[in-house]
Formats: sequence, C-alpha cells, structure tokens
Amino acid sequence: MRATVIYGAGDVRVETVPDPKLAEPTDVVLRVVRSCICGSDLWPYAGMEPSEHGRRIGHEFLGIVEEAGAEVTTLAKGDLAVAPFVWSDNTCEFCREGLQTSCLHGGGWGAPGVDGGQGEAVRVPQADGTLVKLPHTEDEDLLASMLTLSDVFSTGHHAAVKAQVREGQNVTVIGDGAVGLSAVLAAKRLGAERIVLMGRHRARTDLGREFGATDVVAERGEEGIEKVRELTGGRGTHAVLECVGTRGAFEMGIGVVRAGGAVSRVGLPQYEEGPIGVGVFRRNVTVTGGVAPARHYIPELLPDVLDGKVQPGKVFDRTIDVEGVPDGYRAMADREALKVLIKP
Ligand SMILES: [Zn+2]
Repeated sequence: MRATVIYGAGDVRVETVPDPKLAEPTDVVLRVVRSCICGSDLWPYAGMEPSEHGRRIGHEFLGIVEEAGAEVTTLAKGDLAVAPFVWSDNTCEFCREGLQTSCLHGGGWGAPGVDGGQGEAVRVPQADGTLVKLPHTEDEDLLASMLTLSDVFSTGHHAAVKAQVREGQNVTVIGDGAVGLSAVLAAKRLGAERIVLMGRHRARTDLGREFGATDVVAERGEEGIEKVRELTGGRGTHAVLECVGTRGAFEMGIGVVRAGGAVSRVGLPQYEEGPIGVGVFRRNVTVTGGVAPARHYIPELLPDVLDGKVQPGKVFDRTIDVEGVPDGYRAMADREALKVLIKP
C-alpha cells in the first residue's frame, strides 16, 4: 500500500510499504476512507532531524474495517469507524477516568511497528478500546466533520472543558488555526456568550465568526491584550483557550484572563518556562489544559455532528489524494491551506 513517511524537515515522501496485517487478536485492519494533515505534523515538518529510515506519520483518520481480530467484539468487517489521535485499551485505570491519552497499554500512530494515518490502510491496535463505530454515509461534509473528532474538534472541546466554559461566560480563543476555530465552535456549543477570537487571517476569522466568535482581535502581544481588555470592561475573560503553543500565545492568555479564570492550553507547547509567578497567583488564575483524550469525548460529540448542529468539517479547505500529501504539507506550512483533507 501507499503511505506517508517523513524523513526530516521539509522531507515528506509517499512510498510503497508493506500492507498491514493483523498482529494481535485485538487488532483490526482499517482501510482509510478519510485522513488529514494536522497543524502538529508541521512541527516535525519544520524541525525534524534527518533520518535514514524515516518514520510513518498521520494520526487523524476514519475508515472501513477490512479485517477484525478474533477478540474484537465492537466492530466487524465493513463497519465505518473513527480513530482518536492515540490508541488505547479503554479499560485501564487512566482510561476509566477518561484519560485515554495516558493509557497504560496504548500509544501513538507512526511509532515503531505502528502505521501512520496518512496512507491507504492502518493496523489498529486495541481496536475495541480505540475505534468508535460511525454510521455509514456518502455525505462528504459529514465524513469531514466526523473526521475532526479524531483530533481538532475533540481538542477544541477539551480546551473548553478544562477551562470550565459554561452558559453565559466570556471566552477568548487564541489562534485561528483549525484547533482555535474548533475551540470557538466548542465554546459556543457549551453556551459561551461572548467569544473573542484572536487571529489575523481574514478567511479563518470569518469562519470563526460563523462558528460563534462575537469579536475578532487581530493585534498581538501587549496591543492584543489591551484590545481584549477594552472589549471586556478592563477585566478580561473567564476562560482563555490557547490553541497555538508558543510562549507568546501563553503570555497573551495570561494577559487577557479575568481574575479567577483559567488559561487552558491545547497548543503543543514549544517552550518550557512561562509567566506563572505572583501576577497569576494574586489573580487566582488557573493554568490548565493538556493533550486531549479524544476517545473520551467522541461519544458525547458525535450526536451533535450527526444532527448537523455543529459542522466542524468546515475547517477543511483543500482535498488531496495520498500522492498529493507532500504538497499538502507545503500548502499548510505556507499557510496557503488551513487544513488539508486526504481522500486516499
Ligand atoms: Zn487504557
């Protein structure tokens, strides 16, 4: 089969690799129907050390079960299912707490011996604990929206949940990438009243408005903080959903959060230290967030996606086939495309 292998910064190739086969009785082989490129894939695309053998990549996909191991009980050949961005048993002590990203028997896609999602098929370990069955559909928009449950919509939702977004609250979302826009949609779904989106790419912030942003602030740094404070009577917002991952974005978050509020980080941090000293302490600001246990949220979010109440698939603005993946990376890195959908 054809699959994506990353060899280093700027070096993504599509190659013929061995077809996946069942290795454990708890595996399934999934034929990928839709997959995509993630903003977090752009970090290795920007800075990975060159590697002789490369590694498989891609962690957001849905597909049809081609073969199910003898111990798999929740899925059968022909079922459509979505994979969260990590695999998990869904039974260990962490999984039972809804923290499948810390599963004792789980792992990541593209790790040694594990397929990546940007290819034609994937061997899915711990299939019962990992995959969530979906209704069959030919509806392109619905497939795209269901695919966002793998990562971006679940991650935006996680940001909002960790910040305790609820009815009537004010929220700032930092970042107009796919996760930031998903966080706007998630905050709106949870009842946020005012949603300030910090971002400066017009096409993206327009989609943010469609998703529920009431205000857009294009300024950054001190200027951006000032703007959000102006909009909120000088106080800032209860919740701040930080969807970028840079120290500058975190600092803006601390700058715009209301006393007693929370800065919830779901952008993969590219820094080790930040401003968590006396200023944060005096204002009783909570710093929260982390990697999203998508598997925990999919059953809760799926009904609203199926009803069309939310359409997170609108974040995709380009569709390619597997052979087009290297150009898809380039387009996202150059900010030509917001999020690239792969139709193998
Ligand atoms: Zn587990």
